[in-house]
Amino acid sequence: MSESFNAWVEEARNKPVVDLVDMIRAKIMEQRSQRNVISSSWRGQLVPHVEEYIRDITTRKEHFIIRQSTLTKAKVEGLHERHAVDLEKKDCTCGVWQKSGMPCIHSAVFICTTQHSLWYTYVDDHYHVYRYIHKSLTQHSYLCVVSVI
Ligand SMILES: [Zn+2]
Repeated sequence: MSESFNAWVEEARNKPVVDLVDMIRAKIMEQRSQRNVISSSWRGQLVPHVEEYIRDITTRKEHFIIRQSTLTKAKVEGLHERHAVDLEKKDCTCGVWQKSGMPCIHSAVFICTTQHSLWYTYVDDHYHVYRYIHKSLTQHSYLCVVSVI
């Protein structure tokens, strides 16, 4: 992370602090503008790589057996593993769901059996498209704010 940041500001490294800060501000503005343009083409509720992950993970569900105990809890058994899934807590004993914010294979298998598989409700908020589209941070509005300074 620090190496990429240093490469990012290399040309401004020997400049006075004010120029360095201004250059970093401009680069951040450009980066946000580019991200805003890219994210404006996203049509789903989740970012594309998460949509793809969910499509992929749900194709592997036939290798597991589900032993449901309540509406939101189940044991999911694979060939060499067994994990407890709690949909309400967004928790699986394998730990992947808690760490990544995306349902692991065990929880995905269980979610597929529920009546309404609203995947966006099981994915961490950071993977929702609305988090990436900031109308107030478009390049035009940012430039208007910056020009006042
Ligand atoms: Zn799991």
